[in-house]
Amino acid sequence: MSEKAINFNRNAEKVTFDKEHRQKINFNISQYDKAVEKGKQQYDHLEIAKQRAANIKHKSLAQLDKYLVEFETNFTRNGGKVLWARHAEEAATMIIKLIKDEQVKKVVKSKSMTSEEIKLNEHLEKNGIQSLETDLGEFIVQLAGEKPYHIVTPAMHKSKEEVANLFHQKFQTDTESTPEQITAYTRALLREEFQQAGAGITGANFLLADIGGIALTENEGNGLMSMAFPKLHIVIAGIEKMLPSVDDLDLFWPLLATHGTGQVMTAYNSIVTAARQQSDSSTQMVVVLLDNGRSKLLEKSRQRSALSCIRCGACLNVCPVYKNIGGYTYDTTYTGPIGSVITPHMQEMKENKHLSFASSLCGACTEVCPVKIPLHELLLLNRAQAVSEGWTLPKERFVMKNSTRVLNNRRLVDFAGAGTKNLVLKYFFGSQWGNRRILPKFAKKSFNQLWREQNS
Ligand code: SF4
Repeated sequence: MSEKAINFNRNAEKVTFDKEHRQKINFNISQYDKAVEKGKQQYDHLEIAKQRAANIKHKSLAQLDKYLVEFETNFTRNGGKVLWARHAEEAATMIIKLIKDEQVKKVVKSKSMTSEEIKLNEHLEKNGIQSLETDLGEFIVQLAGEKPYHIVTPAMHKSKEEVANLFHQKFQTDTESTPEQITAYTRALLREEFQQAGAGITGANFLLADIGGIALTENEGNGLMSMAFPKLHIVIAGIEKMLPSVDDLDLFWPLLATHGTGQVMTAYNSIVTAARQQSDSSTQMVVVLLDNGRSKLLEKSRQRSALSCIRCGACLNVCPVYKNIGGYTYDTTYTGPIGSVITPHMQEMKENKHLSFASSLCGACTEVCPVKIPLHELLLLNRAQAVSEGWTLPKERFVMKNSTRVLNNRRLVDFAGAGTKNLVLKYFFGSQWGNRRILPKFAKKSFNQLWREQNS
């Protein structure tokens, strides 16, 4: 078992029995559930909208090479620059160089999971560049020295009292501060920072091939300011974020809003095709297109649909495993069902295969996904891949091989009595079954034996 898997099991056990944690998560997810129910009412035929979105994403992935070139051609024509990063390290190096070339010492960032993926904040810090998260949830976890807990709501694991205490420690605000007071305080604090920052870093919810632009969705306006104030705007985006046309946004924007937060539309939706226009042409916009394992996943025709993900977070909120073990147990950038599906491809299967096994396979994730990714089936495909690549333990291989042999042969199944079978079950499966579940017991007589007796 990999070290990551051992830590995963240990932390899962700990977090699952943390009642306070469970209470906070259940409360926050229940708020989300109510909002989503309301948001969905805007659709007469949600299933048709989801199917259309899945089809567009399928088309986009099937011709990704063409759309990427189209995007680059159009974006360059608009005056922007495109950089291609094969992996996380390369993307971070490119961004640091861009910032250093402009002698920038402070950057403002809007929420971007892709920047988390390349560990951008750590790289910036190492290079003496101050980086400030400007999304409130991200700002809170940055203040706390933590990573985002959830791909849409990074501070979901914190109660309002914990946030008030954190602000009191850092800024000496009142320990009884309300969420409104904390928001107002942060807004005033960040306003100054936007004006001083030399560069703004954002992600992109979508890349738009036909107009050579990016679409950015957010609720606080901080993304807009991160793009508009600094002279240098850097976008970091995975290559899979591509949509063929700007016209597709009328479908994707409401789908993302409804499944992400339960809104009809997110508050701020921007389409940006070039840097802010300035008479001295000192502004620039650069899009860093990140591969980092995506093309490896694209090669797999049955698994590539995972790249359709629009990062709405709905599959996390509905997942019984996520709700119990929480976001940090995964120890990955992308958590929940989608994280368990893509992480073994974006990183190593050997180190991350346990994620695909940590699922009840209930299919709730597949049911809610707005782009119809068959998540629970993809988890099974990952499991199959892990087995065929030989990443299972010798004991597991031994058990699977021999139990298949026995179960395929009626004579062998009936060879031993129930007592012996129960002993075998306990010895070979007891530890994996866990000490919180009761192993099933073989009946004294098998169904086959009873059938024969009663029908002879
Ligand atoms: S897999 Fe589907 S439900 Fe999960 S985050 Fe992506 S788009 Fe949303």
